[in-house]
Amino acid sequence: MTEVATFTGNRGLDIEEKLIFEQDSPGHCGVDLPEPTTDELRLGGVKPRGGVGLPGLAEPTVMRHYTRLSRMNMAIDTALYPLGSCTMKHNPRLNERMARLPGFADIHPLQPVATVQGALELIDTLAHWLKTLTAMPAVALSPAAGAHGELCGMMAIHAAQEARGEGHRRRVLVPESAHGTNPATAAAIGYTVDAIPATADGHVDLAALKAKLGPDVAAIMLTNPNTCGLFERDIVEIARVVHEAGAFFYCDGANFNAIVGRVRPGDLGVDAMHINLHKTFSTPHGGGGPGSGPVVLSAALAPYAPISAVVHDANGFRVAEHKGRDGAPEHSFGRLKAFHGQMGMFVRALAYMMSHGADGLWQVASDAVLNANYVQARLKDVLTPAFDNGYCMHEALFDDRALKDTGVTTLDIAKAMIDEGFHPMTMYFPLVVHGAMLIEPTETESKATLDQFIGMMRSLVEKAKSGQAEWFKGAPYHAPRRRLDETGAARKPVLRWTPDAPLAQAAE
Ligand SMILES: *Cc1c(COP(=O)(O)O)cnc(C)c1O
Repeated sequence: MTEVATFTGNRGLDIEEKLIFEQDSPGHCGVDLPEPTTDELRLGGVKPRGGVGLPGLAEPTVMRHYTRLSRMNMAIDTALYPLGSCTMKHNPRLNERMARLPGFADIHPLQPVATVQGALELIDTLAHWLKTLTAMPAVALSPAAGAHGELCGMMAIHAAQEARGEGHRRRVLVPESAHGTNPATAAAIGYTVDAIPATADGHVDLAALKAKLGPDVAAIMLTNPNTCGLFERDIVEIARVVHEAGAFFYCDGANFNAIVGRVRPGDLGVDAMHINLHKTFSTPHGGGGPGSGPVVLSAALAPYAPISAVVHDANGFRVAEHKGRDGAPEHSFGRLKAFHGQMGMFVRALAYMMSHGADGLWQVASDAVLNANYVQARLKDVLTPAFDNGYCMHEALFDDRALKDTGVTTLDIAKAMIDEGFHPMTMYFPLVVHGAMLIEPTETESKATLDQFIGMMRSLVEKAKSGQAEWFKGAPYHAPRRRLDETGAARKPVLRWTPDAPLAQAAE
């Protein structure tokens, strides 16, 4: 790889961009404000000691700065984003258009309900379809993400058990392959987390689970399809034994995309499940956030749901904000966040559902599973599927056996993918698989895109096997900062920019 030195430090479209504060050019301003008519201070006895320290920049500089920054991230709008478990599907522009309608975008949660009837109806309609798709009688819409939904579901379980005089149930069973948020949620509420081992073929070990059940178990937190990309075939039996032991069944529904429209979690015996609208229902994810993690609840848990709740009666729609009053959940455990949830996400998710219809959502699950199986089938002669059960659900999981003795690791492959213009797959998760590579293409990728991705992966693996470990250690070559010290960044993050000269002086 030959590096071409440039005067600017830029490499083509890869711009060497300074922090906005480092670009400060005092005296410049992006807007024309009229001269103040008075210089009288209205701060009482408080006197400002200096400037506020905002950088002075003209409008084009600001535009360029943020546009350049936006180019430094991989994005679903630029390429396939195969991050397993995250369901990075296309965010349809129709959804964006709906979310920007003034009747949804320019309202305030404290407005009189008579002026927001349409918005409340939309929330109620979304709730209806989430309950229908999951065969569950209730849904709490306020959680702001999947992890927040887990907290919601587990708090409802906790409240229900306290009410039954079973507050002594302090143990929560979580499979070894679970997403880290599951044990973290249980621990955050004060439960003890007890890990259930996986079988050699990537499922929950039913015998081990049965052996762990007892009068002190509050719940099981199980992901289905699981994080190994497999449907938990014993799920009905799992629900049965968990209920028999007097515990609740929390299902992590982050992987709902694989079964939406085809399997209803309520039919499987689930008591609570979060749905990531930003995964299954195509609302923007991560930096495009906020997310939204509604939780569907069984009849046993519904009375403990959080407030607020949208209620519909002869007088129209309203928001019930006090537990046990006006149709709010009778024994609500309280509020999870201010107001009623992420309105913009609700609009996008409903637009997605309505534009697909029941048959379209059924097709979503089918195509997501087909695409993942296509990737697995076309890569399994060069990479090793972690569990060769024949087929996977909506994501293909490989381990690093194929890289043995090459000197190239899963991390090196991920870094080389950045040079190829793809966001890396999920790596080293689930923890039960050595050097895991978890690839989720989603249903929104075309065969041509999948073929390009597969060709790229095959060429990287072949390169690894041809003794080019040294080259891999240098990747990525086409990134502004090349290979970062990720451990250092996590352990000793530098979160604050310190100017060379104190701001007050710099502003003079
Ligand atoms: C994404 C995910 C979560 C957490 O959801 P967030 O919205 O990121 O908080 C939990 N479990 C699984 C399996 C996930 O993929």
